[in-house]
Amino acid sequence: MSFDPIQRMQELKNPGRFQFERVKCYSCGSEDCSEFLIGEDDLTGKEGLFLYVKCTACDLVYQNPRLNIEGIKEFYDSEYIAHRKKKNWGILTPLFEWTMNKHDREKDKLVSKYARVNEGTELLDVGCAVGTFLLHMNKKHGCSIHGVDFKDGLNYPGFEKINFYEGLFYEQPIQENSKDIVTMWHFFEHDYDPIRSLEMAKKVLKEDGKLIIEVPRLDSLTFKLYGKKWPGVQAPQHTILFSKKKFIELLEANGFVVEKYMPYGAFPAYFYIFTGAYFKLLGKGLNLDKIIFPYFLGQLLLTPVLLFSRVLNLSMQTVVCTKKN
Ligand SMILES: [Zn+2]
Repeated sequence: MSFDPIQRMQELKNPGRFQFERVKCYSCGSEDCSEFLIGEDDLTGKEGLFLYVKCTACDLVYQNPRLNIEGIKEFYDSEYIAHRKKKNWGILTPLFEWTMNKHDREKDKLVSKYARVNEGTELLDVGCAVGTFLLHMNKKHGCSIHGVDFKDGLNYPGFEKINFYEGLFYEQPIQENSKDIVTMWHFFEHDYDPIRSLEMAKKVLKEDGKLIIEVPRLDSLTFKLYGKKWPGVQAPQHTILFSKKKFIELLEANGFVVEKYMPYGAFPAYFYIFTGAYFKLLGKGLNLDKIIFPYFLGQLLLTPVLLFSRVLNLSMQTVVCTKKN
């Protein structure tokens, strides 16, 4: 083996408490790889330098070595953006709330377009965080809502309506063939065992059930612009950086048929445009209180570009899959 990721990692001089473990390629199992980039936690500004490699055998880009599962927990504290709670942003509060609710409405649009959603629908969201998407779907369509996250809902209003499982997805006692739709919004790129998660999704989905996954897209315009400062790197939380090709390959090799591929997602592409520019020009550690005004101003200015975000391949990708027979 010419390139040794463990040895390379030692040169990066991380804090002594970080415990790293070597990872084989999630896709093909090979250990041969080359350096791809060094990433940081630009979003929160936490310390640490993390190595992403490219598999020599199959080209998958993934973090190697990675923090062990205990070590990663400190990077998911309550400030973590996906676990947001209601907050007061002064005069911008209504705009902020509208934006966050819009995110759930966009997810609903994607799901409703490709799957039947009604009162009989059993919907499971993996990585549901505070559960606003599930609550929206229950309110709008009357469907039964189930959620998994390794963190509980932090007492978000209405959370008790969700049939909630705390812990790792594939360890939960969820009934086989019981779900019509399984969604993973920005969960899969965080996964420590994506193959097991796919097996579990296959197990809990009904015969004609749909698996809908959104992840950042490595071969996108914002990655080309920002490189290692691309918000999709989000180290160390992101374990895999998926190109379109590798994303589809992994799904099809693990029991799914990709029915529909979209070069966009429910997540606002603009967030990556803005934060990538911020990380590149101003450095790491995004203070939402300080940037909220420029954020919305920039969004207004970029409106003409954002109108075409579905065809520009800016940052995200989403797939709708069914089980392979
Ligand atoms: Zn590989």
